[in-house]
Amino acid sequence: MITKAFWIDYEYDADHANRANGSRYFDYITDRAGSFEDCWDWEEVPKARFAATAWRIATGPIMVPGYVRIHPRILNVDLERSDWDGSLLGCVDLITPPPHALQGSSEWGGGKWWRSWPSESLSSREAYYYPSGEDLAKDPYILPSVSLRFLIPDDRVLAPPADHPSLPELQHAAKHCVTALVGELNATITPVIEKLERSLWTRPTRQTRHPRPSRPASSQPARKKLAADIRALHQQWQETAGESVRPALFRADEAAGGVNHAAEELTATAADLDRIAAAGAADICSIPWGVCPDHGATLAASGTQSWCTRCGRGWHYDRYGLPCTEPTRWTWTDTEGATAEICDGHAIAIRTDLPGANLTPLTAGAGGR
Ligand SMILES: [Zn+2]
Ligand SMILES: [Zn+2]
Repeated sequence: MITKAFWIDYEYDADHANRANGSRYFDYITDRAGSFEDCWDWEEVPKARFAATAWRIATGPIMVPGYVRIHPRILNVDLERSDWDGSLLGCVDLITPPPHALQGSSEWGGGKWWRSWPSESLSSREAYYYPSGEDLAKDPYILPSVSLRFLIPDDRVLAPPADHPSLPELQHAAKHCVTALVGELNATITPVIEKLERSLWTRPTRQTRHPRPSRPASSQPARKKLAADIRALHQQWQETAGESVRPALFRADEAAGGVNHAAEELTATAADLDRIAAAGAADICSIPWGVCPDHGATLAASGTQSWCTRCGRGWHYDRYGLPCTEPTRWTWTDTEGATAEICDGHAIAIRTDLPGANLTPLTAGAGGR
């Protein structure tokens, strides 16, 4: 699928023109020529003012559908003149997945599982919409978005015609200006949308195997000895120090507590490294994040604990953030023909997130879910 943030539907524009000029956008410019008037009321070069007006007319809510079409992830797009130096500013709000800090966790939501943006497939594209009253009667929703604000370089903004142009001059100047802006905004926003679209399902490749991280064989005895040495020194000071020097020992108290915590963290890290190494085996799912084996992408996590929000099954490590360790059951082939071998849980997650995904069972026993 081509992912462009902005594009112009020239065919629709020509087919829906009312006047002989052959462009629906020109019709709107004709009706709103007065909106451009104040561009020439100022001493400064009116580039940004002109561009902002041409863009506003080319998009909703003035033109619906817009002369400029926008990607479904774009909630809002405005161009405005900077109050700092009069240059042109882009303001684009994009629908995003929930922030990482909130993903896979329900502890912030009062024990409820919050749904994200509802969407439906419309003519091969996903369309997002705000939840209805009926939707909200069933579930709470979290509707995340990001707002991008950026300068559009002055040399990318076309200069408007000289003082008070004729109507055809105005129409053509506005059209050229909007065409240039579409190219410029795409250069900035399209990569952001591509990154968002790929954030969950990276293209499957066989290179997602994880090399076994090297771990010095002596690391466990070394960290035990260090902890023991610090604890012994701490104890010795406490026993021998008189009342007058006791206030100086608070650092040693903290160090003793800290070393115990550090030892626990190192032990947990070593266990995670073992899990990552295990995930690199040939018959293990190649997706680099975890699922519930029975329910797919339903995991919640808090610190070192994780659990399935459907069945309540729990794990004493961040199963959500570590590579999948479930056995392979399916071959997933993406639209470009690349394949990955994945587990039952990930097959469930893919069917939910990518309807129509190409999944083939590896063995006769795998189907039926
Ligand atoms: Zn489950
Ligand atoms: Zn998996």
